[in-house]
Amino acid sequence: MMDFELSVTSLIDHAERFHGKTKITSVPVVGGAETTTWAEVARNARRIARWLDHQGLATGARVGTLAWNTRRHLELYFAVPGAGCVCHTLNPRLHDDQLVFILNEAEDEILFFDIDQTDRLAAVQARLTSVRTFVALSRQNPEIASKIDGVVFYDDLIAATVDDFAWTKLDERAPAFLCYTSGTTGRPKGVVYTHRSTVLHTLACNQPDGMGLSAADCLLMVVPMFHVNAWGSPFMAACVGAELALPGPRLDGESLIDLINRTATTHALGVPTIWLGLLEALNRTGQKIDSLTRSIVGGAALPPSLIAEFRDRYDVHLIHGWGMTEMSPIGTINRPLAFHRNKSPEDRSCLAEAQGRPPFGMDMRLVGEDGEILPNDGQSKGVLQVRGPWVVDHYFKTAESALTTDGWFDTGDISSIDPDGYMRIHDRAKDIIKSGGEWISTVELENIAIAHPSITNAAAIAAAHKKWGERPVLVAVRSADVTEQEIREFYESKVAGWQVPDRVVFVDALPIGTTGKVLKSQLRAEFSDILT
Ligand code: AMP
Repeated sequence: MMDFELSVTSLIDHAERFHGKTKITSVPVVGGAETTTWAEVARNARRIARWLDHQGLATGARVGTLAWNTRRHLELYFAVPGAGCVCHTLNPRLHDDQLVFILNEAEDEILFFDIDQTDRLAAVQARLTSVRTFVALSRQNPEIASKIDGVVFYDDLIAATVDDFAWTKLDERAPAFLCYTSGTTGRPKGVVYTHRSTVLHTLACNQPDGMGLSAADCLLMVVPMFHVNAWGSPFMAACVGAELALPGPRLDGESLIDLINRTATTHALGVPTIWLGLLEALNRTGQKIDSLTRSIVGGAALPPSLIAEFRDRYDVHLIHGWGMTEMSPIGTINRPLAFHRNKSPEDRSCLAEAQGRPPFGMDMRLVGEDGEILPNDGQSKGVLQVRGPWVVDHYFKTAESALTTDGWFDTGDISSIDPDGYMRIHDRAKDIIKSGGEWISTVELENIAIAHPSITNAAAIAAAHKKWGERPVLVAVRSADVTEQEIREFYESKVAGWQVPDRVVFVDALPIGTTGKVLKSQLRAEFSDILT
C-alpha cells in the first residue's frame, strides 16, 4: 500500500478538492455575518502558512491564537500546522496572569488575536517574554496599531502573498496543536496533539455512532475553538465537507437562534450551560429552530430534564458525550444499540442519560480504591481510566509520564460501566460528597434540582459536617418563588433520605469558568462551612 503520513493538512486538502463550494458562515467579532467556502479557507490557510514560513520559525515552534470561533481562526487551524508549527489555542476568558503564564511557558513566538482582545494585550505586552509578532485578525486598523507595538494585520498578510504554498512535510507524530487544561484543579497543564492523533480522533469519533456529521449537515460550532479544538469538530467538518456556522463571541440564546435559522443548522455542539441559555430564550421568545435535529452535549453532565424538554418541545435530540482536554477530547458518545428498539421509552430515556460508549480506539476500565479492577456491571463505581491513540502520554514540557505504571490515564472521574459498555459519570473525584463513608453523587442531586420548574441552574457541593464528615448542600438559581423546604421535599422519593441536601442556598447566578462549567471550587470556598 502507498505510504501516507496522517496529517491535519490532508483534511483541508480534501475539503478544498471535493467540497470547495460548501458554505461556511461566520459571525465576526464586530458583528454581522460573512460567508466563505472550504476552498477559500484552504487558499487563505496556504497564504498564512507561506507568511509563517518566512518568519524564521523552527519546526514545532508555537504560534498562539487568542480568538473566538470565526473563519479566520478556522484558517489558522490549518495554516499553522501546515507551516510545521504548533497551533496553541488560548482562551480569551483567561485572567491576565494566567494568560501571561501560559504564553510564556509555551514560548509562543507569534500571536494571532481577535481585535476585542487589543486592550488587554496592550496591558500585558511588556510581560510577554517570547511573543515577537502580534497579528490582529482584521483589516488595517490605526487604533489597534497605536496600541500594540509592531502589530501586523491578518488581511494585509493574506493580500500580500500567494496561495501556492506546499504544506511542510512532517512525520505524522509531529506536534500540531497545544491546548492547556482549564486549571480548575491546579496549575493549567499543556496537552500536545499530534497530526496522527488528530486524524485518528477525526476518523474514529465521527462515525455514525459518534459525532455522526455528514456533508449534508450544517454544524453550529458553539463549543469554542480554544477548548480542546472545539472537540475536534473543525477537522470532522473538513473531513466530510459539512457546512459550518461559526458564532464568534456571541453565544447568548437569541444570537444562537438567529444563526441557526439563518444557516439552516442541522447539528450543533456545546456545553449544557449554552443549551440552558438557548432553551430559556426559545421559551421566552416563542421562536422555533426547525432545522436543528440533534446536538452533542458534553463538557459537564447533561441534565435529563434538558434532554426531555428539547425533545418534546423542539424536536431536537440532545446526545450526551464525554471527554477531556487530555483525550482530544472524545471518550464516549451516547448512541443506542439495535436491541434498545424494544425498550420502553422510559428505559431508553434512562440509557440516554449516561455519558455513552467509547468509539473504536478508546479503551476504558474502572479501578477501585485499593487499585483493583472493577467489573462492568453497571453498579460498581470507581475511578475511570482510559487509553488510546488520542490520549495524553505526558504533559507539555514535563519528562515524566502522565500514566499509571501499566499505561492507563487516570481521568479523575468516578464512574460505572454497564455490561453493554455504557459509561456513567457519578462525579469528579474531587467533587463527590462523602457522607459517613458513603458517596453521594453531586451530578444526581443537580439533575433533580434542575428538573424543578422553578430552578434554572444548580450545583451540589460538599459542606463540612461534625458527625458525617461531609453533607450535601445545594446552591441554586431560581426563576420563580420557591422555598428551601419545597426544594428539599422535591428530593423525597427521588433519592434516599440521607442523600437529600441539608441546605438549599439561593444565589443570583452560579460562578461559571472560562469553558462554561460551574466553578464548584469557588462555591466550596464560599459555602463549605455553612453547616458548622
Ligand atoms: P476539560 O478537560 O476541561 O474538558 O474537562 C474534562 C472534565 O469535564 C471531565 O474529566 C469530566 O469531569 C467533565 N465532563 C466532561 N464531559 C462530561 C459529561 N458529559 N458529564 C459529566 N462530566 C463531564
